[in-house]
Amino acid sequence: MGIKSFVLFLFTLLFLSCTVPKTSPPNIIFIMSDDHAYQAISAYGQGLNSTPNIDRIAQEGALFTKGFVTNSICAPSRAVMLTGKHSFKNGKVDNMQDFDWDQDNFAKQLQAAGYQTALVGKIHLRGLPQGFDYSAVLPGQGHYYNPDFIINGNTERIPGYVTSITTSLTLNWLTTKRDKDRPFLLLYHQKAPHRNWKPEEKYLTLFDDVTFDPPANFFDDYSNRGTAAKTQEMLISATEEQLARAGLYGHGRWGHDFKMITDPYGNATGFDQELERFSSDQREAWLKAYTPKNDALRANPLEGKDLALWKFNRYIKDYLRTIQSVDDGVGELLNYLDQEGLTENTIVVYTSDQGFYLGEHGWFDKRFMYEESLRTPILMRYPKEIPAGSVVDKMVQNLDFAPTFLDFAGIPKPNDMQGESFKKLVSQTETSWRDAIYYTYYEYPSVHMVKRHYGIRTDRFKLIHFYYDINEWELYDLEKDPSEMRNLYGEESYSEIQTQLHKKLDSIRSFYGDSDQNDQAFLQTYLEAIQK
Ligand code: CA
Repeated sequence: MGIKSFVLFLFTLLFLSCTVPKTSPPNIIFIMSDDHAYQAISAYGQGLNSTPNIDRIAQEGALFTKGFVTNSICAPSRAVMLTGKHSFKNGKVDNMQDFDWDQDNFAKQLQAAGYQTALVGKIHLRGLPQGFDYSAVLPGQGHYYNPDFIINGNTERIPGYVTSITTSLTLNWLTTKRDKDRPFLLLYHQKAPHRNWKPEEKYLTLFDDVTFDPPANFFDDYSNRGTAAKTQEMLISATEEQLARAGLYGHGRWGHDFKMITDPYGNATGFDQELERFSSDQREAWLKAYTPKNDALRANPLEGKDLALWKFNRYIKDYLRTIQSVDDGVGELLNYLDQEGLTENTIVVYTSDQGFYLGEHGWFDKRFMYEESLRTPILMRYPKEIPAGSVVDKMVQNLDFAPTFLDFAGIPKPNDMQGESFKKLVSQTETSWRDAIYYTYYEYPSVHMVKRHYGIRTDRFKLIHFYYDINEWELYDLEKDPSEMRNLYGEESYSEIQTQLHKKLDSIRSFYGDSDQNDQAFLQTYLEAIQK
């Protein structure tokens, strides 16, 4: 080949490489569970339980060590995830406000670009989901046993256990309804491990032979903290006096949370009414598993720290049991992708709608901007672009999912979407990223009584403002005090850092368009809703 022919040959190659159709857009499977703390995923190394199938996503992809939410509560978190906008922009600031499905969301964008879209499981947003060709969702919180599902707008009760049913509906959609000529978006969203942690029959006695030690700060006395931590109602082990003072579902309850039909003092708890939904077989399996353990406590009532540890163990075991079924479902889904040859071109993300306290500060539940509820697990696999075993240590938020999925699908981010695509982080093409995240929480007064607050977190520090019926600031040095046991606000040695953090908070609020007026705009609707 002469030099001219060779150059012509090179140009032809170059021309072909530019005109050959791009590879097909990736399928996207977005798995979300409800209240799944990163501490309860074995890939994060806490040693509580074993979740081999969820772990596999990170082993074959990326593990995010600083995944956070913008508002640590169920429905608002889902609204942020769908819209890529902070709560005060998408309007769903708390569980009481309605969600406006007419606004844009990333599923609508993908649908318009030719994706086939489906949503299965829990979404916790009233109204018929928009952006989905197929939806099978739980009404509200849904039930663990024999749940109702709203399938494309029609409600039907499906016998069985909610986690397995959600998996079956998902696999059924993939098998019988998927259009193989188009890319798909599938939201596979589990109700578990949300309160009140009712395990599947086969896991009712898992961990019976184990005693869990609580976290080091389980018996926290909230000294060196402000009013908010002292006045919450989310203790795993509240005293009978605290229980009497708290709202209906405040603190851990003998019936609803600890599954005692009669408490140790002989009082009926009302939990038997929850079992009325069960079939006779389910009820029999349940009573067989719990009755001996409940009888043992009644025969030998515990007090003080011993009773607190009993409650912690009842809580953590039921919580982890429900996760075992979630992990099974992830395994079934990943196996299906392997069998169908879909693994290579499918993005799989596993996350939760927020984190959860597993006894840290003595708590269950979420809401606070403290680490355990601010953080959320994120694991992501996409063999084509994410090297196996990657670790992402940048501060990513649930705000970023929508723009990230659009980015992978080659769709430009709408101008009003506030999150940032983290494609460049997982594909390891770029590392420049934000240096602070913004947080808001609005649901007060309400169950668990966590006061309204907002704040910022940087890699090392956190500044929080609690407001509404108090006006208190908290500052934490996460490097020296990762468990957030000492509020440093106002301490002389941190005065310069405090000033910098205030400046940073002002600028981030201005950047996202937040102000005190936003809260006022939602407050009246909220107060009217809780009056009802
Ligand atoms: Ca949740």
